[in-house]
Amino acid sequence: MRGNATGPAAPAKEEGRCDLAIVNGKVADVIGNRISQKNVGIRGDKICCVTSGEIDASAVIDAAGLLVSPGFVDFHSHVDGNPYSAECLVRQGGTTTIGGERNLNSHVFRRIEQDGFLINQGFSISHSFVLRNAVGVSDNRPATEQEIRAMADLAARFLDHGAFGICFGLELIPGTSFEEILKLSAVAKSYERPILVHLRKDGWEALSCFDEILQAAALTGVSVQILQLLYMVGIGGAMSGALDIIEKARAEGLDITADSGLYNAFSVCIGTGVFDKGWEKEYSGASAQDILISSGVHVGEYCNEEMFQHLRESYPETLVSAFVCDKDAIEMPLKKDYVYISTNAADGPHYMNVGAPEVSGAFPRLLGRHVRERKNLPLIEAIKKITILPARRYGLTQIGSIETGQNADIVIFNPDTIIDKADFPDRGRPDAPPEGIEYVLVNGDIVVKGTELTENRHSGRLLKK
Ligand SMILES: [Zn+2]
Repeated sequence: MRGNATGPAAPAKEEGRCDLAIVNGKVADVIGNRISQKNVGIRGDKICCVTSGEIDASAVIDAAGLLVSPGFVDFHSHVDGNPYSAECLVRQGGTTTIGGERNLNSHVFRRIEQDGFLINQGFSISHSFVLRNAVGVSDNRPATEQEIRAMADLAARFLDHGAFGICFGLELIPGTSFEEILKLSAVAKSYERPILVHLRKDGWEALSCFDEILQAAALTGVSVQILQLLYMVGIGGAMSGALDIIEKARAEGLDITADSGLYNAFSVCIGTGVFDKGWEKEYSGASAQDILISSGVHVGEYCNEEMFQHLRESYPETLVSAFVCDKDAIEMPLKKDYVYISTNAADGPHYMNVGAPEVSGAFPRLLGRHVRERKNLPLIEAIKKITILPARRYGLTQIGSIETGQNADIVIFNPDTIIDKADFPDRGRPDAPPEGIEYVLVNGDIVVKGTELTENRHSGRLLKK
């Protein structure tokens, strides 16, 4: 513990001194499904007691009026070792994230392993960008039988080294064959890890793309995570159809879950295949005017056709936010117990004052707007969607709940005031920190106090399955 908590130490009552006690707060019990007054003791990087009694500790946080929650687990992001993205995420309570959808930089991997990181960071292995490249399938053609075998061997090595699953970005590599999906699903299944899937198409066309994934799941028994429902099927009224498909598959015994976001725009680099010919139709008649420029000299401006083409050709790394999602598609998946909340944050360049608000606002937005203001779901259910449910889905048993022996990843917030302040760059700062979060602890260290980071910048770890 290298915390800097304030307040007088509690009198000695229990055996063994804790480094830190969080007292007078209400604890979110995500296993017992209730919120009750408890004190939490921390020793080293672990929770050492959760009690109604007093705790003898070297330092104390008085959490009166506040909720003590497990640290938020961001099921899917593109933080991928970027320190600024991690800063934004931890200030909104994110203590763990899993990435790797687009790449896996071995340099970043080793740096986190050696020096630690602001938050806990794990990776899945990307079929579409890492495995295919590694075996020389650089274009959009289906891999040969030999290449598929080589990818399967390589995937197994990554899974041996702790990758959390195999990630398919099929919308960007539509040349992927069913054979590739099937063989790699079998590899994932042999390690009891999930496949994480962005379907071949978005919007209505996505509904017909579930088939191959469900078939692979039925044939191999692999667990499936459908990534970012909102940004894939929250378009043109397709969300309810997608939820029906998932529910039917679950009823038939397939192990399928999903995650979703909270903003009606997805963010991506303008040069990607997402905006290849025909994209307007896929996104229900969207146009260049729906594309907000989120990085570079034109940040905060909406595109016109000319600007859109110019940026695609000359500045393909420009981050944009595409306002194509249905507003009612945000709340629909929130009510489903098989849907978790992920940020999808930091896909594309991310530094101060650029990007999308999801990196700084998603979890407070869930707890402030959707739980408190709109009453879309009970507080404890919302907390489960960003703690124990995503943690268990990845087989992470040391995080996700406030219990003795768990890693001390903790968010202390005011449920009456928590709210996101980040916004898209035409309206505000995408990286504005939220209000209502008082403390964030990562592995027992206080990493955020108020909206400020402390000196503890390396408390997070490289997570391996
Ligand atoms: Zn993503």
